[in-house]
Amino acid sequence: AADAGGDDKDVVKNYFNSSGFERWRRIYGEADDVNSVQLDIRQGHAQTIDKVLSILKEGGSLEGVTVCDAGCGTGSLAIPLALEGAIVNASDISSAMVVEAEKKACEALSKAAPLTGKALKNPQFQTQDLESITGKYDTVACLDVLIHYPQDKAGAMISHLASLAQKRLILSFAPKTLYYSVLKRIGEFFPGPSKATRAYLHAEEEVEEALKKAGWLVRRREMTATKFYFSRLLEAVPLSSQ
Ligand code: SAM
Repeated sequence: AADAGGDDKDVVKNYFNSSGFERWRRIYGEADDVNSVQLDIRQGHAQTIDKVLSILKEGGSLEGVTVCDAGCGTGSLAIPLALEGAIVNASDISSAMVVEAEKKACEALSKAAPLTGKALKNPQFQTQDLESITGKYDTVACLDVLIHYPQDKAGAMISHLASLAQKRLILSFAPKTLYYSVLKRIGEFFPGPSKATRAYLHAEEEVEEALKKAGWLVRRREMTATKFYFSRLLEAVPLSSQ
């Protein structure tokens, strides 16, 4: 599948509707049905989510703040945001992911709602690719999705996300550094079945350049690295707001 040669997007969609769904549902879940590599990825990913939540909460309460979670997976970010009172629009190219995220959100919100004084709203979930997302949001977040975008498609993707965001854009991606490129080549990076899709690393300067072209400025950089999980996190704001 990795070298299907056709449309990368279809390969990615099929993967996340089948074996990829099963793999990532487990990784992003809480049950102990994971091996040590998957557990490491789960822990690394959880750190990314925590960083995003704390960045977003720094600005005060999230009640009523609109957030677009592009490529939401099983709702790891969308659900805690909704629990904070944010108005979340979450979408993913994989319908299996969206169904799982919706199920988890309903459970989490119905459990939490009676306990909080906040008016919680279930995220609005949709199966769609990132390019089809419309609307305007205070914040647009897109975590660990760029890994599925070749460099020549990344610029347009970033510019589309930027056009949806009004105050803040949060992007995370596997950084293309010499170190990670070598690891990837020798196959230590994304071990096992995740090799079913191509994994694209991205140079931070190129991501930043694409943001700049769209009128956005990187305000903060974070890095999460465990043994098998690497993710650079950028928070960008409109140049005009600086
Ligand atoms: N953002 C989620 C998180 O951090 O928990 C999920 C990350 S997962 C590694 C990548 C997700 O991106 C998958 O759920 C996949 O279906 C989705 N995805 C990949 N390409 C996409 C595209 N072109 N449009 C929308 N979603 C996409």
